[in-house]
Amino acid sequence: MADAIGPRLYGCYNCRNHVAFHDDIVSKNYVGRQRRRAFLFSHVMNVVVGPKMDRLLITGLYNVADVSCSDCGEVLGWRYEKAYIEAQKFKESKTVLEKFKIVKEDW
Ligand SMILES: [Zn+2]
Repeated sequence: MADAIGPRLYGCYNCRNHVAFHDDIVSKNYVGRQRRRAFLFSHVMNVVVGPKMDRLLITGLYNVADVSCSDCGEVLGWRYEKAYIEAQKFKESKTVLEKFKIVKEDW
């Protein structure tokens, strides 16, 4: 399965800074902070990770850090630093990006 067009990239919706690869999506079934759709990524790039804080989300209590674009500073989502619930541990070190804050780069 050769991919002539190269890896499928997502860019920041504000400045088009490349922030993630489509292949790094773990799940498309996440809910963002305003109940909008969001994706869980195993890896993101060109982002700045903010201070860690505990936050109560739909599935429980987590220690998270906001993730923002390294170019324009727009907050794009958050990173799971620690999950306090055993069943949610797989999310640790993964990052949620809000779907409306990322755009497909020419694909
Ligand atoms: Zn940006």
